Order: sequence, then structure tokens, then C-alpha cells
Amino acid sequence: MTELRAGPYIWVTWLSRLLAGGFSCEWAAWFKARHKSYERMPSDFDMAQWQIAHTSLLNDVRDGLEREGRAVFVESQNYFTLRGSSGAVLGGKPDLVTVDEDGSGTIYDVKTGKQRASDAAQVMIYMYALPYIGQHRGRQLDGKLIYASGHEVDIPASAIDDSFRANLYGLIGRIVSDAPARRTPSALECRMCDLTPADCAERIDADPRDATAEGAGF
Ligand code: SF4
Repeated sequence: MTELRAGPYIWVTWLSRLLAGGFSCEWAAWFKARHKSYERMPSDFDMAQWQIAHTSLLNDVRDGLEREGRAVFVESQNYFTLRGSSGAVLGGKPDLVTVDEDGSGTIYDVKTGKQRASDAAQVMIYMYALPYIGQHRGRQLDGKLIYASGHEVDIPASAIDDSFRANLYGLIGRIVSDAPARRTPSALECRMCDLTPADCAERIDADPRDATAEGAGF
């Protein structure tokens, strides 16, 4: 049963796809920031299979880093909650974090699926947040994405610049604002959203392919 949260809470992955521009409806994140225990849409996504594949890839990457003699922190060790000046709390759990002898480090995220722009945005939010947290406070952190295909993407610490911060703060500001965030219902986005019609009355459940128009002369 849907319950109100004590204060705004945001999970990193709610922001990453909005920040990267692959998703434009901000209302779901606005709603989730204020509510918990809400009913989710049924999904045919095989969570167990995904978890097994993700854990296997993560263990391979971790083993390789440890063979290089790196200090590695894994998943739950990296869980954080970070309260901002607005009172809102940002939460996340990077896959792996390594720390080098010079005190710098790298945040790794492993992906079993295809590459998406939101993957880099997710790691960049971790790179922004972790230097505020406990053992990583003040640390310079690079980022790295590793895909099951073997493809890798490096993100230098310098990517967390004023422009990135301004975009992140602007988005978080809209998500934690008392004024409801922009809602842009569409068949393409609603099918990727886990809110039910009970919580989002504007949800569109039609298959976008059924809306193909006819009659063009090409
Ligand atoms: S169901 Fe559609 S309109 Fe409603 S919050 Fe989700 S994406 Fe936005």
C-alpha cells in the first residue's frame, strides 16, 4: 500500500535516465521521491537471471582487479545515502570501487545489457556523491563502465564539472520541489515505467507499434 516518505528520497538510477535524456517524464521520479511501498506494474523481466549474470560479470571484474593488487570495495560496502542542503536524500550502490596507493580511486559499474547513455550518467552521479561519503571523503574518483561484450568506457574525474553539477542540481530541484514535476505520458515511456494507473492516471498502455499511421507516399 502506497505510503508517504518522511522526506524526499531519490535513488540514483531514477535520475540517470532523465539526466541522459533517454527519458523525459520526470513525474515518476517526483512521485517515488515522496512515496514508498507503491504497487509496481507486472514485468516479464527475469530478475533472477539478470542478477546471476550481473554477479558473474562483477566477480570476474573484481577478480581481475584484485589480481592487479588493487583494494576493492564491493556493492553493499559502497551503499550510500547523502543528504543535500534541500533536505532531500540521494541513495545509491556502486558495483565496485577501487582505491589506489596515492589515495585516488575508480568507480566501476558492470553492465550485462547493451550500452545506454544513462549508464555513464549513473556512474557520474556516483562520482559526484562518493567524495562526500565516509571512507571516500575528498577522494578523486574516476569512473569506468564494463560491458559483458568486453567494451569499456572510461570517465575521467574532470567530467564532474560545474556544468554537470548544474544539470544534476536542476533535476534534483525539480524532483524534490513541492510543485509536481513535468509529466509527459507516451506509449514508449509508459511501457518502461513501473507506476500503475492507480498512482499515475495518465499512464498509456497501448503498444506504440499499434499507432502506426498509414498513407504516406514513399
Ligand atoms: S506512467 Fe507514463 S506518464 Fe505516468 S509517470 Fe510513468 S512515464 Fe510518466
